[in-house]
Amino acid sequence: MTTPTHSELLIATNNAGKIRELNGLLANLPLRLRQLSEFPHVEEVDETGKTFAENAILKARLYSRQTNLWTLADDSGLEVDALGGAPGVLSARYAGLNATDAERNTRLLAELGRTEDGQRTARFVCAIALYDPSTGSTEIFNGTCEGHIAKHPRGQHGFGYDPLFVPSGHTQTFGELSEDVKQQISHRARSLAAVRAYLNERFSRM
Ligand code: IMP
Repeated sequence: MTTPTHSELLIATNNAGKIRELNGLLANLPLRLRQLSEFPHVEEVDETGKTFAENAILKARLYSRQTNLWTLADDSGLEVDALGGAPGVLSARYAGLNATDAERNTRLLAELGRTEDGQRTARFVCAIALYDPSTGSTEIFNGTCEGHIAKHPRGQHGFGYDPLFVPSGHTQTFGELSEDVKQQISHRARSLAAVRAYLNERFSRM
């Protein structure tokens, strides 16, 4: 039997776009990253929380309890000011349960209608929860990325609402900007910077 040389961290998401970004942002840590796809018998956790943080904590805790691994879960979404913060925690379900990214983007544009340029402000929000199965404690890390909603989808990069979201300080959408740029300024990158620092400190001592 071989002894693991690294501690393990479960990345608890089934969203392909998030998996790609989280694995990139968590590279080079003293941790072996595990994926939910390696645990086919794990039951999916429903997002019943009212806030991003509640959902992230719920997912981290319940996936950790099923795998007994340190677990990282992200809950994220888009808040549009002219829509009172919608789609918010319902971002993934904004056009129904089985809708596509394109259908969610179409709904968002329809809801915004002729809203003027200056009124299309929005932000991506990300809450990341880290659950330690040995103590049952959870750490939470938040990140945001301010911007506005374009009039039409532009670009093929990223996922979700990226073709409609223009981050502040840029004229292109996350769909047009390179993945490298998104990995530096996104809501997920910002919360992950604090997560990386925490994990580095925690696991380099082991
Ligand atoms: P959940 O966190 O699994 O509830 O899903 C969040 C939803 O918000 C995703 O399915 C996307 O529609 C949207 N979202 C979250 N982060 C991003 C991002 O970085 N770019 C584009 N859309 C995002």
